[in-house]
Amino acid sequence: MAANGIGGLEGPPKPPTAARTAPGNPGRSSSSLLEVDDLHVSYGRIRAVQGVSLTVPDAAVVALIGANGAGKSTLLRAISGIVRPHRGAVRYLGEDLVGLPVHQIVRRRVIHVPEGRGMLARMTVLENLRLGGFALKGAGHGKSDLERVFALFPVLRERRAQLAGSLSGGEQQILAIARAMMARPRLLMLDEPSLGLAPLLVREIFRIIPRLTAEGTAVLLVEQNARMALQCAVYAYVLQTGRVVLSGRAADLLAAPEVQHAYLGAG
Ligand code: ATP
Repeated sequence: MAANGIGGLEGPPKPPTAARTAPGNPGRSSSSLLEVDDLHVSYGRIRAVQGVSLTVPDAAVVALIGANGAGKSTLLRAISGIVRPHRGAVRYLGEDLVGLPVHQIVRRRVIHVPEGRGMLARMTVLENLRLGGFALKGAGHGKSDLERVFALFPVLRERRAQLAGSLSGGEQQILAIARAMMARPRLLMLDEPSLGLAPLLVREIFRIIPRLTAEGTAVLLVEQNARMALQCAVYAYVLQTGRVVLSGRAADLLAAPEVQHAYLGAG
């Protein structure tokens, strides 16, 4: 992969299984859930995303790391339809999502948990979770979805009657992820889930994320906590000023000196 600033590692992430790959582009595969291709997003004259391509395989955790302002949140917003790219494609199960309204993207089970959690503070945990389920067309699986989510996040069962605004920061983050899981996401995009949490809760969040893949959910994870993100992901991309500068297996990136120096605080 083209490198800019910190040098390339090993080309785009490969799919986790021995899937068919397109010649000349090892990141592409028939098993890819999401393929972002040469995406460009601007806010007026600010070019936030400049030609990003990336792949998310089915039911895998893929991390997106990079400094403040690198374009990570913008990329998630473009995938979920909140901002419209002026060039490029967002192929999800082969269909280009660019130009679709947000609710139609949600119906395709692409769910975005933005930075800051967005809980409805004066509603209970249970009410917040039910709202998450409304995103599904033809609701009616509410009870089984709730049971599934309570099994994943037992603390929420205990707190189900509590107002969301009175939960701790970590519990609110768990609720945000759980609410998204009520929509049975095939692709879940998490923006900075560890932001502002104490170290113990950060570990709890990163313990939960890989478990979501057992539900058939792929996770595209934006994180400033590069070490934790790379430890929990299978593949990762490093974004710098709107461009991918490095990508590969997360374990390889974790060990790469340029990543250690730039993002992991190595001397
Ligand atoms: P952070 O980790 O700080 O959230 P990020 O990698 O997610 O950073 P973005 O939030 O995507 O980066 O921002 C990318 C660039 O786009 C930055 O220069 C930012 O100032 C700019 N930007 C983001 N949102 C807007 C907006 N609504 N209007 C104008 N510029 C924006």
